[in-house]
Amino acid sequence: MTAPLIDPFARAIRYLRVSVTDRCDFRCVYCMSENMTFLPKKDLLSLEELDRLCSAFVRLGVEKLRITGGEPLVRRDIMTFFRAMSRHLDSGALRELTLTTNGSQLERFATDLHAAGVRRVNVSLDTLDEAKFARVTRWGRLPQVLRGIDAAQAAGLRVKINAVALKDFNEEELHRMTAWCASRDIDLTWIEVMPMGDIGNEDRIGQYWSLKDLRAQLARHYTVIDLPDDTGGPARYVRLEETGQRIGFITPLSHNFCESCNRVRVTCTGEIYTCLGQEGHSDLRAPLRASGDDAVLADAIRAAIALKPKGHDFDYSRQAVDGQVSRHMSHTGG
Ligand code: SAM
Ligand code: SF4
Repeated sequence: MTAPLIDPFARAIRYLRVSVTDRCDFRCVYCMSENMTFLPKKDLLSLEELDRLCSAFVRLGVEKLRITGGEPLVRRDIMTFFRAMSRHLDSGALRELTLTTNGSQLERFATDLHAAGVRRVNVSLDTLDEAKFARVTRWGRLPQVLRGIDAAQAAGLRVKINAVALKDFNEEELHRMTAWCASRDIDLTWIEVMPMGDIGNEDRIGQYWSLKDLRAQLARHYTVIDLPDDTGGPARYVRLEETGQRIGFITPLSHNFCESCNRVRVTCTGEIYTCLGQEGHSDLRAPLRASGDDAVLADAIRAAIALKPKGHDFDYSRQAVDGQVSRHMSHTGG
């Protein structure tokens, strides 16, 4: 059997997130500037190359594959790729095939995703107010996303909402969003805004709403019960006694989750980032294109994993953005 991927800090790498495009039909204010220059198409891995690359990771022990972007569902023929990846579910090598999406194309693709073996989908949604949604996504339309969520649930996909906590923006909607998710049996995870990429005139410190504060606000209305920390991922979970629902917190800034990190990220150009919060990366496209021999690719993957750093250096504690990384979140897919 092939030896699994183990990094220098003895963490086994079981989780791969792949950004299949840097393009998006939205321009969320914390993620992109309004005028983005996207990569030339020739730099992108083809769907066949993405298949070869993901399959190599699966052979090396990756059990969970999350497709992201940019907006993954705007990539042409992306369903061909999902259908191809479902063979690893059928063989039992992959335990989960999933995606993170802004929901704009879910109405069109929910049934196909379910047919390809996807069972859970993360939908990013920061507000339930139509005007505010248009403001935060710049180009997005809330009704379209809500129809997408309906379609996903109707197709049998379990939906989780990811919301970025934004000061003076969705603070006042905390209870409305909590109740809306409870009424639809949807899990909700809050994410602290991270300092990634140039976002034009937006102010990072001004956007930052600490999840410690968010949790305290929740605790004024609900009985908040901590759940055991058993996911191995960056989110910490609580249950609200009154509604029974689960709420997650992803707090890269106020809580460092690196010691249990089991994941790596690959971009649509075949760069592998072994830490979301560091600049360091390695190129997998050159070995992928240089040879049809998968052993060459596996060696390149192992060499990259050997460089996985211990953790990130994000820090807002001195009221300044420290540890900022230059790429946009849409480059590595969050
Ligand atoms: N377009 C898809 C979506 O929005 O779900 C997938 C890619 S998007 C980059 C993945 C996640 O990253 C989204 O939940 C988004 O809200 C989050 N995100 C983007 N920029 C962020 C930032 N600066 N800090 C924290 N989360 C961010
Ligand atoms: Fe697009 Fe997702 Fe970034 Fe919003 S967060 S601009 S939907 S990639």
